[in-house]
Amino acid sequence: MKKLKFGIVGASGRMGQEIAKVIENTKGAEVFYPFDREDKWDSRKAAQVDVWIDFSSPEALKDVLKRASEHKTPVVCGTTGFSKKEKDLLEKYSKTFPVLWSSNMSLGVAVLNEALKSLAAISHFDFQIEEIHHNKKKDKPSGTAITLQENLKKAVQKDLPEPLAIRGGGVFGIHKVYSMSDEEVLVFEHNALNRTVFAKGAVQAATWLVKQKKPGLYQIRDVLFGKK
Ligand code: NAD
Repeated sequence: MKKLKFGIVGASGRMGQEIAKVIENTKGAEVFYPFDREDKWDSRKAAQVDVWIDFSSPEALKDVLKRASEHKTPVVCGTTGFSKKEKDLLEKYSKTFPVLWSSNMSLGVAVLNEALKSLAAISHFDFQIEEIHHNKKKDKPSGTAITLQENLKKAVQKDLPEPLAIRGGGVFGIHKVYSMSDEEVLVFEHNALNRTVFAKGAVQAATWLVKQKKPGLYQIRDVLFGKK
């Protein structure tokens, strides 16, 4: 059986290495083109990649999408810290081939984002999002907290206080959504126990994305619930 050939951008990074381990342990998959900042780009090798996974930096995105677009190779991107410029690039390139971007590739957070819709029923409560991450994380608040905030805002239809961001130790990622009234406090909490959770989600998303026939900007939730 032909193996699914993965390209990884940011291959030497914390997530890139974790993703490679998950691919090597996935039947019918191989790490075909691990690429990092210092490597010379090999366009002949890139032409054979079935799907790219990019966990690198916002600056890398333009090249990643431009290079993938040459062969319409699907891209799963987990990089965070994007400004409007990068989000516009995702929109632009996803019109011609499948691109999946999610600030958090864990399936639990995908479900949490869906669960936020139920808070519409208690929109009169006070809300606060809090996140904790390891002390090496560059962006603050986390991309996940920003996505949760956007979805919470959509659900409760009002302005919210900015997410609280704490940095320390080796925490992989804790996100909490507090809903508070005078009588009760409801907390939705997600706790990533290791980095593998994001790597497994990204590899699952990539395996799903190569089967999508239509171009489009997909999210990890679409893997579980279908495209909106
Ligand atoms: P890291 O700093 O350990 O690794 C990033 C790697 O990308 C480095 O090896 C770096 O050399 C490489 N890189 C940077 N610019 C590049 C370029 N232009 N071309 C090629 N390679 C380039 O960081 P990390 O902890 O692995 O995280 C990477 C990104 O993934 C961050 O944005 C982080 O927030 C995000 N992240 C997302 C999720 C998710 O589930 N979506 C989970 C964890 C981390």
